[in-house]
Amino acid sequence: MAVEPTLTLRPGREKSVVRRHPWVFSGGVAKVSGDPAPGATVVVQSSDGHVLGRAAYSPQSQLAARLWTFDAVTVIDDAFIAARVAAAAARRSALAGRTDGVRLVFAESDGLPGVVADRFGPWVVLELTATGADRWRDVLADAFAALPGVQGVYERSDAAVRKKEGLGVRTGVLRGAEPPELVTITEDGRTYAVDVRRGHKTGFYLDQRDARAAVQARSTGGRVLDVFAYTGGFSVAAWAGGATDVVTVDSSGPSLAVAAENLRRNGHPTHGLCEADAFAELRARRDAGERFDLIVLDPPKLANGMAQVDKASRAYKDLNRVALGLLHPGGHLATFSCSGAVSDDLFQKIVFGAALDARRDAWIVQHFHQAEDHPVALTFPEAAYLKGLLLQA
Ligand code: SAH
Repeated sequence: MAVEPTLTLRPGREKSVVRRHPWVFSGGVAKVSGDPAPGATVVVQSSDGHVLGRAAYSPQSQLAARLWTFDAVTVIDDAFIAARVAAAAARRSALAGRTDGVRLVFAESDGLPGVVADRFGPWVVLELTATGADRWRDVLADAFAALPGVQGVYERSDAAVRKKEGLGVRTGVLRGAEPPELVTITEDGRTYAVDVRRGHKTGFYLDQRDARAAVQARSTGGRVLDVFAYTGGFSVAAWAGGATDVVTVDSSGPSLAVAAENLRRNGHPTHGLCEADAFAELRARRDAGERFDLIVLDPPKLANGMAQVDKASRAYKDLNRVALGLLHPGGHLATFSCSGAVSDDLFQKIVFGAALDARRDAWIVQHFHQAEDHPVALTFPEAAYLKGLLLQA
């Protein structure tokens, strides 16, 4: 057998790999031999020649290699990729009783760097974000198509991060039939329509499943404001929990159109849909003296990295301050940040500052994190990105 392409680390740079962290930064690479193509599998070895594992090579990226394995013997082939997919899907089997919308593969956390796959009923939506993952597209598609009950695999590789890897946009059917305009999932008895072609990410925020259940449980008899609502995941949960009224705010008309569909499908009124900028809308309603019993504040990622943390912190604080001013005494605020660069600790401090400024006493009554099908491998804490607090004012 020919000698495998090999990436040799600089002295000392093997430490994180020995601890099974899957990333090798380009600055840690001493030498690449064997002329590997983008996405090819390379042997990773320490400066003194110990084989540490095998990785996908990304010559264009600052993340020069992402490890598939951490031993000298495992070979990366079709069977390896298929087995990782099957194992990841099997780990989620307990969710089947609750929902047919499940993240089947969460990238590094499942030993498949650059691979995200969400199942919506019989459809799997695949998102590839790294050169190494891209190279295994067909094997991955076959592996997802082989899962019981899957009718089709649709690709949504259109995230901006692909550019850093030198990859273009790829979307469309990979296996099976063209999915319908809206795919349907049922979660905790609620029905959601998912636009897998044009929706955010793969179409639906599966990561907020536990928070939706909490909102449902807290909505009884109350007036609810769902801000940054997207397709109304929280609004449907609030109505299902017995809210007396729900206002659903988002700046995206197309997202609110799907929210309307979701409300109708679940038998709820649509009069509360409001297309507006959240920052302005919150202020206007506060100044008009409106009050709510429960507010959900789930903004998009406001910090795209450490350099944006300060600016994002000010925006989070502003939103939370105004939202707290909209709460009835005793009311609840479910507030979130999906910025990985904003830690749990920092987020709590930001919200504390907002409460001080709003002159509201508030208590944390529950902590939220991404749902269980977005697990955080202990070897890869970077996977933790979503945090939230349920406050009582
Ligand atoms: N809460 C949603 C997910 C929110 S994603 C869910 O659980 O499904 C963030 C949403 O914020 C997107 O729908 C986007 O359209 C919206 N958005 C972004 N900027 C906004 C702004 N300034 N005002 C209102 N909505 C905004």
